[in-house]
Amino acid sequence: MKKETICVHGGTYRDAATRGVNTPIFTSSSFEYLDRDDIPYPRYFNTPNQDAVVRKLCALEGAEDGVLFSSGMAAVSSAILAFAGAGDHVVMMDELYGGTHAFATDMFDRLGIRHTFAATDAAAVADAVTPRTKVIVIESPTNPLLGIIDIRRVAQIGRERGIVTILDNTFATPVNQCPLQLGIDVVVHSGTKYLGGHSDLSCGAALTSRPHASKIRAAARHLGGSLNAMMCYLLERSLKTLSLRVERQTANAARIAAYLSAHASVFRVNYPGQPDSPGHEIARSQMTGFGAMLSFELDERIVSAASFLRRLRIIRPAVSLGGVETLICAPAGTSHAKISPEERRRIGISDSLLRLSVGIEDADDLIADLDQAMEKA
Ligand SMILES: *Cc1c(COP(=O)(O)O)cnc(C)c1O
Repeated sequence: MKKETICVHGGTYRDAATRGVNTPIFTSSSFEYLDRDDIPYPRYFNTPNQDAVVRKLCALEGAEDGVLFSSGMAAVSSAILAFAGAGDHVVMMDELYGGTHAFATDMFDRLGIRHTFAATDAAAVADAVTPRTKVIVIESPTNPLLGIIDIRRVAQIGRERGIVTILDNTFATPVNQCPLQLGIDVVVHSGTKYLGGHSDLSCGAALTSRPHASKIRAAARHLGGSLNAMMCYLLERSLKTLSLRVERQTANAARIAAYLSAHASVFRVNYPGQPDSPGHEIARSQMTGFGAMLSFELDERIVSAASFLRRLRIIRPAVSLGGVETLICAPAGTSHAKISPEERRRIGISDSLLRLSVGIEDADDLIADLDQAMEKA
């Protein structure tokens, strides 16, 4: 089945009692145990509503098995801790999502896990590997500069040395990128973003092989972080429109990137779909679409970012991403506010850098909104 069909039909629970077309919401956290081995329980990650969503996500990512979580960070932390413990070493990209970055810097020492941050480059990741490395964690495209790493090469580094590779596929979604097909071992998601897609739901997922999923589930049973039946159903409903939403969002983003690139008040546009972007060729070889996240830098001599944000009428200045509505934020004041201005400059995040999460609205309306805010700012 193609992704569009999987989105609608994949994993749906066939309800023999009513023959309804939707998965029923099974509210029980308690199930009878006589004459059965596998007793469902929310924190065992095996309830019918969890299973239905996991089956759909597995089909979309090309995974054998997976675990559904109550947040993206529950997925990230459970997946890493399933494969790394005291005495082990983890290689991470320094452009990883802020929460994943902070998980390493705040908690790894206490757990006896060593880590090295590497640049967004497969050779840098290879250089950071030590004989004790058990896990490599990467992201592509990255936040907020939309950096691209060669996923096949990182997967190969992992496979040659017996290291588990984990890729956070939140930005691309399985509609635009399937990392397991490129050789990655474990895909994780903040489902709070595109999978949920309506900015009203917190969830996460890890999709992988059967043996790796068992290990992640075992770690997750200790750490908690399970998703309840109501939220599972909301996510399952959202996933039915995932490909429609992401395809529209991706098309809108390409148009907005072209508009911004041609604008005299814009210095630079970061979007892997732009033929002159540094990651374009690699992105083309590993993504089926370039996604709906982009960032751009205003020429502050012409347009002030602060007044630009206040003048937008449709596009809302808000954190998070991946919903049907277009959102904008200045990473220097949000996700990267705790980093010193010097360090921000070093990694390329200026005060006038704006990150856009493009929604499903009409592209002309969005461009008109950017345009009027640019004129008046
Ligand atoms: C938001 C995000 C996370 C964390 O997800 P939560 O649902 O907020 O816990 C992880 N990775 C990426 C790339 C994200 O954007």
